[in-house]
Amino acid sequence: MNSPESSLRSLPSVDKVISDERIKQIEAGYSHPLLIELVRGYLEELRQQLKSGAAAPTFDAIIETVIARAAARQRPSLQRVINATGVILHTNLGRAPLSRETIEAMEETSPGYVNLEMDVRSGARGSRQTHIKTLLRDLTGAEDGIAVNNNAAAILLALSALAKGKEVIVSRGQAVEIGGGFRIPEVMRQSGAKLVEVGTTNITYIADYEAAITPRTAALLRVHSSNFRIVGFTQSVTLEELAALGKKHSLMVLDDLGSGCLLDTSRFGLDKEPMVQESIAAGASLSFFSGDKLLGGPQAGIAVGSRPLVERMAKHPLARAIRIDKTRLAGLIATFIHYQKGEALEKLPVWQMIAAELASLRGRAEAWAEAAGGAASVEKGESEIGGGSLPGDTLPTWLFAWKPGGPGASQRVRALSATLRAWEPPVLGRIGKDTLFLDPRTVLQEEDAVVVEALTGTSQDRNDE
Ligand SMILES: *Cc1c(COP(=O)(O)O)cnc(C)c1O
Repeated sequence: MNSPESSLRSLPSVDKVISDERIKQIEAGYSHPLLIELVRGYLEELRQQLKSGAAAPTFDAIIETVIARAAARQRPSLQRVINATGVILHTNLGRAPLSRETIEAMEETSPGYVNLEMDVRSGARGSRQTHIKTLLRDLTGAEDGIAVNNNAAAILLALSALAKGKEVIVSRGQAVEIGGGFRIPEVMRQSGAKLVEVGTTNITYIADYEAAITPRTAALLRVHSSNFRIVGFTQSVTLEELAALGKKHSLMVLDDLGSGCLLDTSRFGLDKEPMVQESIAAGASLSFFSGDKLLGGPQAGIAVGSRPLVERMAKHPLARAIRIDKTRLAGLIATFIHYQKGEALEKLPVWQMIAAELASLRGRAEAWAEAAGGAASVEKGESEIGGGSLPGDTLPTWLFAWKPGGPGASQRVRALSATLRAWEPPVLGRIGKDTLFLDPRTVLQEEDAVVVEALTGTSQDRNDE
């Protein structure tokens, strides 16, 4: 065996690699300094590996790795994946998949110019918000509305424009972290509004809010508890009660709904997610919600409510910094039109997933199990809504389950999970009880073929016959 020193000496120089014919060929599509940096970095990695006793790769293997790495750098790392986790609004996987009509609207407004901020009939300058205002009014019953980059931005804008330097009263149980380190209180602080927490984590009475009102109070805020649920001895105040108190003291009532549901989720055996129309009807001055949660559209944040308040938000300088772009605006409008036409359930993937029939889910899971063979079967399980909607609430489902059993089962389950994640496109499931689960509910029908292909293609890795 070679000593580490002699194999270190056997490593080629950067120049030798760069001047190889095969590298010269890829150089055409790649800038020279980038290529040198890539080769230098790789040789340095090899040097470290050799020092710790690894064997030196052949010159040809080095060239092949450099070519593969150069190609990988030019492939976008952001790519499509297949979500078989059973979490419908998976924030790490980009939340709501879009309807065909939404995608078409986004495509149509992409290649050329659009009348984004121009009234084409008069030729006068307009606002991008005019395109969505009527829909927001029709669908929520609110006087006016505005769409921005996302819900966190909508709340930040509202507080900056309407409550800067003033106090906003919120129940302690609602001053929550909603995932990804995003804490409502911290966003609010950015706006210059002062958060006044009242009550305890599980109990807040309307009298607690009233006792906290001072001449500096601007608003009463309700925040939908997104990704947690307090059970047992609890007491919280209804929006109607807050609205009445707000009216009595001439204070704004702000309602952060989180998901922003326009349909009643209780018809699917779920708890009732607060609805935007009901928030407005109950007397919220402004209600806030996301575009890409239960609404089922592209990322956006929407505020609906009182016209003077919406107008003040629109005029604030921050509105410019967080504005929505033309493509997402077009997609959001197309998504809202599904609700206006009464076809949201049939057209929006999020609602199709929620409404999926158990028999059909079972059939698909069975087809996958058949493709996989061996230790694969189907099992009853639960799907989640996710994205901070309906915390703790689940939908019954049928799962593909791969349970190899025996010694080393948990490693083998992890190994198959890794192989499926390395598939093109990656197939993401979930692991539990030494079993790999794939939930058909969150897999689009047209993706079934890919799942079957991946399960067939990974049969050697499964090795469970
Ligand atoms: C998800 C959520 C937000 C943030 O919405 P984004 O659109 O992701 O910015 C804010 N408040 C609540 C209650 C939420 O559930």
